[in-house]
Amino acid sequence: TVRVRIAPSPTGDPHVGTAYIGLLNYLFAKQRGGAFVLRIEDTDRTRFVATSEQMIFDALRWVGLTWDEGPDVGGPYGPYRQSERTEIYREYCDKLIASGHAYRAFETPEELEAERKQQMAAKLPPKYNGPSRNYTPQQAEAAVAEGKPYTVRLRVPDGDKPAGTASTTFRDELRGDITFDHVNVDDQVLLKSDGYPTYHLANVVDDHLMGITDVIRAEEWISSTPKHVLLYQAFGWDLPRFWHMPLLRNVDKSKISKRKNPVSLIYYRQAGYLPQALLNFLGLMGGGMAQPTEQEIVSKGLDTKLADVFSLEDMLERYDFHRISLGGPVFDLTKLKWMNGEYLRAMNPDAFFDALRQTIFSDSYLREIAPLVQTRMETLAQFGDMADFFFKDDVQPSPDVFVPKKRTLEETLAFAGDLLTVLEAAAWETTAIDAAMRTLLTDKQWSVKEAFMLLRAIITGKTASPPLLESLIVLGKARSLDRMRRFLD
Ligand code: ATP
Ligand code: GLU
Repeated sequence: TVRVRIAPSPTGDPHVGTAYIGLLNYLFAKQRGGAFVLRIEDTDRTRFVATSEQMIFDALRWVGLTWDEGPDVGGPYGPYRQSERTEIYREYCDKLIASGHAYRAFETPEELEAERKQQMAAKLPPKYNGPSRNYTPQQAEAAVAEGKPYTVRLRVPDGDKPAGTASTTFRDELRGDITFDHVNVDDQVLLKSDGYPTYHLANVVDDHLMGITDVIRAEEWISSTPKHVLLYQAFGWDLPRFWHMPLLRNVDKSKISKRKNPVSLIYYRQAGYLPQALLNFLGLMGGGMAQPTEQEIVSKGLDTKLADVFSLEDMLERYDFHRISLGGPVFDLTKLKWMNGEYLRAMNPDAFFDALRQTIFSDSYLREIAPLVQTRMETLAQFGDMADFFFKDDVQPSPDVFVPKKRTLEETLAFAGDLLTVLEAAAWETTAIDAAMRTLLTDKQWSVKEAFMLLRAIITGKTASPPLLESLIVLGKARSLDRMRRFLD
């Protein structure tokens, strides 16, 4: 039976790409009576964010996806969190060393850096080629006995020989055969010096042990696939089928990124998008959805405009993986907004009212806003003027509101760009935001007053507002940053 998975890494806000790939995996499994697995790939401890895993679960459930196996629901192939499986990876890594498919590499970070610099100077692609590759088992054992730290690397067969000597070919179900010359495949690190596996090792070991039959993921992983194929071969395991999905693109065809579109699912939720509309929109990406033909539209009396509108059930019925086209699907916010509007208009009045009360006017949101304005009001009706920015999609301050007296428009915009960069990296707590801002303004020689005035204008549209840092927390990171990006656009 078919088994598929998504394998998000808890490195921050849940990505809209995760919902897109999650939807495709879900459809693939359910259309074939198979299982859809959620695995958490949390082995990169430098990018790990503790709150991220729960946010991923919540956001995927919010769009309407459910999984058959996963860290939170259990299942027969657990644990489903890679940090709980480190013993397994070490064991499999030892097997690769024993069979000669992997080796311990003792080069220090400085040595690796020096090698990289040399390669860059010679205009060669960066590729490991250190002496450890050719150590005898005795030499390696001796280095271990000396206590030298090491990583474990994949030995790419003939990877140290000239182009044309060796290559790996695998089949992509959407593209056909893809071949990589080994001259372009690095001896990938499999086990890091902290004892954690890299993505490549953990991903392959788990896909095998969890019985994954079809790997459906974004096309940015194609260049990793030869390394994975070499690992399957080294272990003597059968390959899964690979389906690499076209990446979501901005209107200008670049890969969607935070700078051009909100990519956090939290944003879409907080900004009042309906999960059914977002899921429908994601289902349209890539062209796999067999939309109604003109004939059907006429015979069923469908509104042509609504030919794009369908539910998860419709997708289960009509989605066809062999229809997928590889031209990059455009994640066009204008279209998503239009679609969301269609869903809003199609709601009955009670459902619409409930949607407002559950999102934009929820008790929990009002409860967070109320204490920020209570001390500043003389009548309750002033709430509207004081708190309007919490309910707006965007505020558009005019330059006389946001440009400090002693600054030019250009300087101000440049500072706002820097501010966006530091806030993107900041934990969303008042103290962390405050500290990040103060470091920046010391650096850029801006006064606290100027910086706060600018940020206040961007977030609230005004010169006076409830306490700014607290307001940022309540508005949320995703919406606050979106407001800053739109301001800079
Ligand atoms: P960004 O460049 O915006 O930081 P990223 O690739 O670093 O994006 P991740 O958090 O690594 O973001 O991505 C989460 C998941 O979403 C990954 O599985 C990734 O393959 C997928 N993904 C990222 N960008 C896209 C995209 N443009 N289209 C489809 N899937 C994507
Ligand atoms: N952990 C990877 C990610 O962040 C998984 C990629 C894959 O599906 O192999 O998307």
